[in-house]
Amino acid sequence: MNLRDKKLWIFDVDNTLILDVDHPTPFDDAMKLWNALEEKGYELAILTNVGRLSSRQVNLALSEAGFKIPVERVFTAGAAAAAYVNNRAPGARCFVIGEGGAQEDFVARGLDVTNNPPIDFVAIGADRGMSFDELNFATKMVKEGAPLICISGSRDYPGIYLGVEDTFIGERSIVAAIEHATGAEAVIVGKPLPEILVETVKALGRDVSDAVMIGDNPKSDIAGGNAAGITTVLVQRDPDNIVVFESGDLDTTPTVTVEALDELISKI
Ligand SMILES: [Mg+2]
Repeated sequence: MNLRDKKLWIFDVDNTLILDVDHPTPFDDAMKLWNALEEKGYELAILTNVGRLSSRQVNLALSEAGFKIPVERVFTAGAAAAAYVNNRAPGARCFVIGEGGAQEDFVARGLDVTNNPPIDFVAIGADRGMSFDELNFATKMVKEGAPLICISGSRDYPGIYLGVEDTFIGERSIVAAIEHATGAEAVIVGKPLPEILVETVKALGRDVSDAVMIGDNPKSDIAGGNAAGITTVLVQRDPDNIVVFESGDLDTTPTVTVEALDELISKI
């Protein structure tokens, strides 16, 4: 494996390029590698498990941090979930929770986002303004047979909401309540689901053998990349900032491990 031959470099966002989308401070080592890749003409893309912000909103946060990229090359868990639904049922009627960002990604895919039955799919992302009525409606629709999709799979995550710095309950935990109430089992759409990585690479007109996935999280970025057959780079960041995901029995061993991303510049 030679990193120089990899044409498509796919970056995670939180704790890889910037601290997180609520604290968009860029990492200096990431900026150096990003600029070097751009200068040498490599193709760049973003694949984030954030589902409460749309591709457009994630792109804005990255752009303000200094990482400029066309919005068409930014893939969120919400956009991946929308693609997952649309591949199975184009134009489906979807009840979506997710701070408005997930809804925006679903509408952008041509799906019908609605809170009027009948509902074909229920998709749940992290949402710090979610009401009891929304949770209850989602539960009822799943009980009536709508498949349940969890947009990404974090149990909790750090952030700022309405000016308050805190740790917030994640989408996986909200979905667990619906699973408990209905007996249904959710499909988790986001890294490490290999389909998401393969679809992203395909959407960019490349093959998995052309791609590298770079991230801080062995259980999402690395497990997903490995399962999709993509070369993986793990950057070792502060372990306290690594969000908890479930990776099942996927292989979490990276192809390459670095302490700082600019170590890779001599290899491209
Ligand atoms: Mg991350």
